[in-house]
Amino acid sequence: MSNNCVVIEPAALSEFRTQRIRRDSYQRINSEEVYQSFFLTHTCYDCMPKSGKVILLDARLSIRKAFFALVYNSVRAALIWHASTSSNIGLITISDFINMLIAAYDAKWSSVATLESESILEWKQNLYKKNGVRDQTLGSTIIYLNPEDSLYTAILTLIERKVHRIPVIHPDTHDFLYLITHKRILKFLYLYIYDLPQPHFIHQSLSELKIGTFNKLVMIDLQTKLIEVLRIFQAIRISALPVVDGEKRLRGVYSKFDIMHLAATRTYANLDVPLCDILDSIHDHTTYQLATCKMTDQLFELMDKFVSREVHRLIIVDDSQHIIGIVSMSDLMKFFVASFEKLSRINSNQLNGGNNNNNDGPIFETVPMDT
Ligand code: AMP
Repeated sequence: MSNNCVVIEPAALSEFRTQRIRRDSYQRINSEEVYQSFFLTHTCYDCMPKSGKVILLDARLSIRKAFFALVYNSVRAALIWHASTSSNIGLITISDFINMLIAAYDAKWSSVATLESESILEWKQNLYKKNGVRDQTLGSTIIYLNPEDSLYTAILTLIERKVHRIPVIHPDTHDFLYLITHKRILKFLYLYIYDLPQPHFIHQSLSELKIGTFNKLVMIDLQTKLIEVLRIFQAIRISALPVVDGEKRLRGVYSKFDIMHLAATRTYANLDVPLCDILDSIHDHTTYQLATCKMTDQLFELMDKFVSREVHRLIIVDDSQHIIGIVSMSDLMKFFVASFEKLSRINSNQLNGGNNNNNDGPIFETVPMDT
């Protein structure tokens, strides 16, 4: 065999072919649609990390121990395994911890012993009852994706269900593969970003694209008590709150993830402390830098910041650090999907000879959710 000969394994050959087909198709499509095509032609399986940690907790474990398991493993969520039915019955996340802390606080901590000994299963069942969920079948509320589902389906599901993570579960073996998140998908796209044709919108600025939230911003100040912060997180589905000083200048960000610090330091029994007393102990000020951006930043710069700083949101500030808005990864994903839908409508209008039919839905259907 010649030294120049390259031996390609059959599996590698098929991967190589798929990649070539994808690259060829990227050359043929309009560069405005390139991300759409990327998300449609890649699956949740493609996006799976080569190695990673997945935590599966037994439903009989006490809720307190479950949070310590999250903290010690530095993860934000774990899947719950119900041994008697051999099934996954849901996720335990920081939102559960918030609900648990508020319940204990409102009961003047008299029920804290129960809360500490209550199992995950009992906690979830009580929560269903309290929220009036009629179908209390275990596992009936779990949202999950199949590894063969496209990333486009994953993005739509994350957006429509207003969640930050979805377990990817193998349909035959029921193995839990990983949790797909906005961050994972954006990171995956970013791996290929320099190989893909560039849509013109990534060179447009935030002020042109208006991605993010600019009105009704929810902010807190340094005197806000921890219990009030928890109540805001319980009431509104947002993942972080900017902390401002008396002149409404950005001083910090308190995220849902920071609440895990309470479990790690076992300081959750005092929720009346003002934020100024705890912010310094959460973030190391020698290394901690607030992740901000400007209205003049181009979309490409924002994507770069999200990926390199590994943050879920950027606070939009002016030159004197006054807050203008918030752009979160979920806003970015919504923007991608909205621009796809706009494009598909334009394309279908062109196909229909420009006949503007309001019933034209988006071309790409979402796979009905398995709940
Ligand atoms: P997230 O939970 O960060 O994915 O954000 C969900 C939505 O809420 C996005 O549209 C954000 O722009 C918006 N958002 C995030 N934080 C805040 C906040 N503090 N006040 C108002 N809206 C917010």
